[in-house]
Formats: sequence, C-alpha cells, structure tokens
Amino acid sequence: MENLTVCPICGSGDFENYLTVRDYFFSEEEFSIVKCSGCGFKFTNPRPAKNEIEKYYNTNEYLSHDTEKNDPITLIYRTIRDINIRSKFNLVKRYSTGYNLLDIGCGTGEFIQYCEKNGYIVNGIEPNEKARKHALDNNGIPVFDESHLDDEQDAGKDVVTLWHVIEHVHDLNERMKQIHRLLKKEGTLIIAVPNNNSPDCRKYGRLWAAWDVPRHLYHFETSTMKHLAENYGFEIRKIIPMRWDAYYVSMLSEKYRKGKNDLWNAFWAGSWSNYKARKENLNYSSLVYIIKRKKSKNQ
Ligand SMILES: [Zn+2]
Repeated sequence: MENLTVCPICGSGDFENYLTVRDYFFSEEEFSIVKCSGCGFKFTNPRPAKNEIEKYYNTNEYLSHDTEKNDPITLIYRTIRDINIRSKFNLVKRYSTGYNLLDIGCGTGEFIQYCEKNGYIVNGIEPNEKARKHALDNNGIPVFDESHLDDEQDAGKDVVTLWHVIEHVHDLNERMKQIHRLLKKEGTLIIAVPNNNSPDCRKYGRLWAAWDVPRHLYHFETSTMKHLAENYGFEIRKIIPMRWDAYYVSMLSEKYRKGKNDLWNAFWAGSWSNYKARKENLNYSSLVYIIKRKKSKNQ
C-alpha cells in the first residue's frame, strides 16, 4: 500500500477522512476515501501501489462480458456498451477538429475499432496485458502499453479520450502532462468520470457502485475536474451527461445492498437519478468533460 501525503490536485497536506467503502466488486476489503481540506478533492488513501493493484482487477470477469455468456446482466452490459460506443463516437465527431485520435485505457479496443471504421486514425493505450492481447486477437486492433506514450510525437493528436479511465491512473499528474504535450493546440481532451455529487451517489452512500475502490483512486466532481484541468492550462468547455450510467451504477448498487440483483428497483433508481440530475443543472451519475486549451486573453 502507498500513502499519499499531498493532494494530487492542489498539493495541500491537509485531508480529512471522508468515507470508508468496501470493495464489493471483488476483494471485500475496506478502503478509506479522504477529502482534501484545500480543494475538496476526494481520493482513495492509502491505496494499493502500482505494482499491487493488478490483483484487484478480476480481469477474467471483465473480459468475460465479451464472450458467449448470455445471462440478463451480460446482455444489459453489452447493450449499454454498444449504445455507449456510438454515443462516444458521436461526441468525438462533434467536438474534435481532426481525425487523429488517441484513446488512453482503451481496454479491448471496441471503441477505437468503431472509430477506425468511421475514418479515424486511431491509437490505443492499455496497461492490462490480457486486454491488449484480446484487442489484437479478437478485434484485430494493435494496442500498446503506457510506455508507448513517451514515444508519441508532440502535438500530434486532434483528440485524446479517457472513458472512465483517469480515476484509475496512479500517475495522474504525469499523465496530464503527457496529454498536454500530445494534443495539438486546437486539440480536444475528452474525459468521462463518475460524479460523486450525483443523486444516485447521495442515495446509495457507501454502497454506491461507482466508488469502486480500490480501482478508483480518485473521485471527481465538477469543481475538482475544473481545478485539475486548469492546473494544465486547460478549461472545461462543455459538460455532457452519460444517462445510461445511472442505470448501470444503480443495478450494481442494488446488488451490493441486497446481495442479489433487483433490476426493477435499479430501473427506478436510475430514472430518478437522471430526473433529479436534470433539475440540478447537469448533476448526472457520470459526466463527460469536453476540455480544450484555455484561450489566452488577447485571442
Ligand atoms: Zn487539494
């Protein structure tokens, strides 16, 4: 385990314990989430070090969503995933200024495969070796490990995407620095993350599935994402809801609460969360941030 002594966003050394959360998905171990007194950023602390985290990813379970399993949960997962791929692609198309795309944390590569079919020049980065192999063997997409980022040329990318990925990255600041280097001046950074200020998070509390400790090292909300972006000369241009995530997160949260699936209640919880989120000025379960370089004053 490693213990962060300063906040990754503002550098303050002053945090308070915020919540203790169990890893319901896999290990059943408990982890602490702290909240920075300086900027309000919440992060898992202490956390498994980079070389310890792999055992908390049940890779076979992740990849099995893709195989011939046909139970209702897998079917729901797959349907949502396919809808998500199309809506992610539509966002890329709408907000990018060119066709050179880098997807960090691309998993088994379905999203970049879809983008490639639709005319994009794609590059995928994925730390998990099994996922990389799966991407190549099953989807015919070559995917590289993180060290490949260092070899990419400066200012070569029109768009960099991280779909539910940045909350998993140990070297958060290192990664932001790299992204800044790789993006063209007019390039677009697209970051999707769960929102710990959402109605479904408030409803489920420590049972909220998107805490997902210890795999989620950071727990963002709009104010802390804004702060992180500004640290690197970026600004948030637009925030877009991911409405399906409210249903998926509610489905898992109901399961954690009752020890079994309750699709009916999950459906109502997800719908309620989306309804509330709309009233609360885009406070949805998961948010997509469209980020660009800050315009200088004389522009
Ligand atoms: Zn802070």
